[in-house]
Amino acid sequence: MSPDQASAYLAEIAYLLRHQGDGYRARAFTRVASLLLRERPDLAALRSANALESLPGVGSGIARTLAELVDTGRSSYLERLRVDLNQAEHADSAPFEISPLVEMGYRGDLHAHTDWSDGGATVIDMARAAQARGYEYLAVTDHSPRITVVNGLGPERLAAQRRLIDQANQELTGITILQGIEVDINEDGSLDLPDEALAALDVVIASPHVKLRMEPAAMTERMLRAVDHPHVDVIGHPTGRRPGSRAGAQYDFEAVFRCAAERGVVMEIDCDPARMDLSPELARLAASAGCLFSLDSDAHAPDQLLYVDLGIWTARRAGVSQDRIINWLRLAELKEMWQ
Ligand SMILES: [Zn+2]
Ligand SMILES: [Zn+2]
Repeated sequence: MSPDQASAYLAEIAYLLRHQGDGYRARAFTRVASLLLRERPDLAALRSANALESLPGVGSGIARTLAELVDTGRSSYLERLRVDLNQAEHADSAPFEISPLVEMGYRGDLHAHTDWSDGGATVIDMARAAQARGYEYLAVTDHSPRITVVNGLGPERLAAQRRLIDQANQELTGITILQGIEVDINEDGSLDLPDEALAALDVVIASPHVKLRMEPAAMTERMLRAVDHPHVDVIGHPTGRRPGSRAGAQYDFEAVFRCAAERGVVMEIDCDPARMDLSPELARLAASAGCLFSLDSDAHAPDQLLYVDLGIWTARRAGVSQDRIINWLRLAELKEMWQ
């Protein structure tokens, strides 16, 4: 079994563990799934040397799962979790292959944070990491002002960030940094930045972050208004859920997805393992409503860019074909779509 395939199994196990409220074990599986993608160890050799536990973060439990994968190509643990979580129809199907994304045509991530808000790295470091992954573009989408705890950006800091990004784009070759924002959707569906500020950006992601437990009818109005906003390109993590700890917003998903499809507003699959939002189930509904998707990492550090590798199986499980995922577009095509 290739490390990529094994990683897909571990990523799905982590996803299901989170739903059971076992965030601790979920994170351990996610860490090893990431490690397998990054380091590509020879699992068969490690297995025959009885040395799977020499991999960083691999204890006896994960080693057992890896050993079974190498020996049989299956994971009875994953199959059991799927049944426990009522995913019986997938119980004995193999996870979808998840990597390498760029060879599959993925050209750039449209949702990433930097130290301008709550990210841990500079714009340049994030761009270099994206370039190392072979991307053609990376959108820097820091938070809007309302989220004061993360130092969200108002119009003035956005203008300063634009100057820095313009300069970085002159220095870098082979990758383009897009300037975006992850703007908050206010309770009434308006956005947390004035139109002029939004108009100057390359990408506008509108995300619900607060008051997610609004009554569904009001939440539907709120989301519809955001989708209807002329500057919104993408709805970020559309429910705000955190599997295992926070149920996402409830609203008339079908109505919102249909409106988004009509307006050409893209629905995000946020691949942060703590989010996975849209879920495979809601992504399927959005696909049937005619939506396009953006498959993003929501990375807050360079190594988190690989969340998209770990999350792509949700799009596959939802039956979303690659031509519906905008990250497969070339930069020129993307710009044309958003003109
Ligand atoms: Zn967010
Ligand atoms: Zn974000």
